[in-house]
Amino acid sequence: LPRERIRNFSIIAHIDHGKSTLADRLIERTGALSAREMREQVLDVLELERERGITIKLNTVRLLYTARNGETYVLNLIDTPGHVDFTYEVSRSLAACEGALLVVDATQGVEAQTLANVYLALEHNLEIVPVLNKIDLPSAEPERVMREIEERIGLPADDALLVSAKEGIGIDELLEAIVERIPPPQGDPRAPLRALIFDSYYDSYRGAVAFVRVFDGVLRPGDEILMMATGKRYEVQEVGVRTPHPLAQEALGPGEVGYLVANIKEIRDIRIGDTITHAARPADQPLPGYRPVKPMVFAGIFPVDPDRYEDLKDALEKLALNDAALVFEPETSAALGFGFRAGFLGLLHMEVVQERLEREYGLELIMTAPSVVYHVYLRNGERLEIDNPAKFPDASKIEHIEEPYVKARILVPAEYVGAVMDLAQKKRGEFVTMEYLDERRVELTYELPLAEIMFDFFDLLKSRTRGYASLDYEFSGYRRSELVKLDVLIAGEPVDALSTIVHRDFAYERGRKLCERLRDIIPRQLFEVPIQAAIGTRVIARETIKPLRKNVLAKCYGGDVSRKKKLLEKQKEGKKRLKAIGRVEVPQEAFLAVLRVG
Ligand code: GDP
Ligand code: MG
Repeated sequence: LPRERIRNFSIIAHIDHGKSTLADRLIERTGALSAREMREQVLDVLELERERGITIKLNTVRLLYTARNGETYVLNLIDTPGHVDFTYEVSRSLAACEGALLVVDATQGVEAQTLANVYLALEHNLEIVPVLNKIDLPSAEPERVMREIEERIGLPADDALLVSAKEGIGIDELLEAIVERIPPPQGDPRAPLRALIFDSYYDSYRGAVAFVRVFDGVLRPGDEILMMATGKRYEVQEVGVRTPHPLAQEALGPGEVGYLVANIKEIRDIRIGDTITHAARPADQPLPGYRPVKPMVFAGIFPVDPDRYEDLKDALEKLALNDAALVFEPETSAALGFGFRAGFLGLLHMEVVQERLEREYGLELIMTAPSVVYHVYLRNGERLEIDNPAKFPDASKIEHIEEPYVKARILVPAEYVGAVMDLAQKKRGEFVTMEYLDERRVELTYELPLAEIMFDFFDLLKSRTRGYASLDYEFSGYRRSELVKLDVLIAGEPVDALSTIVHRDFAYERGRKLCERLRDIIPRQLFEVPIQAAIGTRVIARETIKPLRKNVLAKCYGGDVSRKKKLLEKQKEGKKRLKAIGRVEVPQEAFLAVLRVG
């Protein structure tokens, strides 16, 4: 396939601006799927993506498009997620492209992730094609939004295409613009092979499948390949493209995007960002690859049933293959037994991992409250990096503690500035700048502790601004803070999995609220259960769960069998995910209660 007829592009946008719907229209217009196969957001294949209506994974599809000049082009489209937690996925897809469609909702305008994605695209030297979407809506203001794109991003307003992904308006013009404006890939078919692994997944029949973008050389079945970072060798069984159905090909040449099957049973052998070359004629230098991801938050994952520890391990390994940002290592908790400490990019990422583990691998899990990584300086001069409050050294040994801060960019209509400032203040935020984007919208910048943002910040921000605020943040450095470890005792027993690190000024309030929450969440037992919050040996709050008086069944006097059965079933249902801590049965919710008391 001549390189001049290939276009590799990505669609980037703020969440809900219409990326997936636009991808649907492009797939439909180029006839990649039959009408029968077409459904909404067809590239969102994970059950979870479909339910939540969000894109979590990047996804690729090859389209054939016959342009007005009569030539047929191969368009490789890579759909990407928009949420701040999944920026890493976006960055990976961009490294495989020459261009990006920047979708902006014409009823909204430039949002925080619009900017974040544009910066990523510029970092990868991509040609950006601005697309104003949702022009079918009466509230669309294309002129205003175009001005905003020009002023904020520096892309000429004349370059923007007017589209309705939903109604299919402007799609033909957009396809022409892709062909005309996005440059074809470079690359030398005679040079030693260099193919970038940008994604992978595990298939129980075929082993680990890698998604690759070939930069130089040609990849064919039968080739002996070498993974440059891991040094592993494999024989290629099949190469192909996704249409979106897998379609085997004779070869993948420079500029092409496709998959590779090589009977790779050892999951660790495929590393996203690694370069594949030929074992017989290796390239001198690997491709630049990716910046390694740094998980920002850590949490414990434990099987409800201790016998399923090995299954959990296996599931985490397989999931990590499809989720490059997920890291984990074994952890032992006095309260929860054997499990893993896993690192995530943020809370949504953590939720997604939990749900995927449960649905795709049939596991029942207890997740503990997430924690950031603290730098703990000891009196003896040592510095520890601690991602688990349970592992905090004794307060008497600590000289001081530093916590991670982020620089947060919040875009919001002017009338909500006060509400946002008030919230940022409460979350220990430090004001940096305020800038008017136009008469109506304001950009606020704050330095905030990551631990505060992680909790309920985004939800509170949304509710205080009626959903109008958008947020983006990046790590900005470590700062010294007055932090203390807050322990929880249930029935007199300290529960390591419930310990948290809090700012000294908030310790009493959080301790009190946490005890109240736990009192409401933990079911009554046959005996009285005291719940205490403590700093060191000092108890700062206490609640009591009153004992159960009667047996549940005592309520349905004799006769009604079906009602009795229902009651028992309900009780069983409620027992799910209960973990015995000493003599007390504690539900999963309790371990995340701390997230709701910020
Ligand atoms: P994504 O998060 O960027 O992938 O956005 P989606 O494609 O999932 O779209 C978000 C919502 O906007 C969905 O409810 C779509 O039906 C809707 N939507 C997308 N494009 C259009 C459009 O052109 N017009 C209208 N009216 N709604 C649209
Ligand atoms: Mg989507």
